Amino acid sequence: MKRHGHCLCKKTRWAFTGEITWSCYCHCDDCRRNCAAPIVAWFGVPLKNFEWFGDTPKSYESSPGIFRHFCETCGTQMGFEAAHYPGGMHLYAATFEDPENFEPTFHVNYQSKLPWLELHDELEKFDGRFLDGSGSPEY
Ligand SMILES: [Zn+2]
Ligand SMILES: [Zn+2]
Repeated sequence: MKRHGHCLCKKTRWAFTGEITWSCYCHCDDCRRNCAAPIVAWFGVPLKNFEWFGDTPKSYESSPGIFRHFCETCGTQMGFEAAHYPGGMHLYAATFEDPENFEPTFHVNYQSKLPWLELHDELEKFDGRFLDGSGSPEY
């Protein structure tokens, strides 16, 4: 099954086939500021199953080896690639064409959650970067 996403102005689009590798919420300060949002819902797919359509996004290197891709026209954040997560493209669940058909399964960087953000879910909550705070997803 092919799934699609797009930015606010619809000039930058993506698509992938196959399964989502993982899906989560991130509470880190970098994601928060990058999206100007109190929490960011993410998922990862293997790069080999992924492609951009329409305008090629611009990229901002937010830390060494970490690239955040965004639509040049409307500024929507569109993707994330990091040297420490080789082979994967991280995408923002809110850019899905059908974001209602998404299910985050855990939280990362929960230690940075904003105190005024109220959440009432039973998902696993990890401090730190990924799962046990040190591991990387396998693509
Ligand atoms: Zn756009
Ligand atoms: Zn983050």
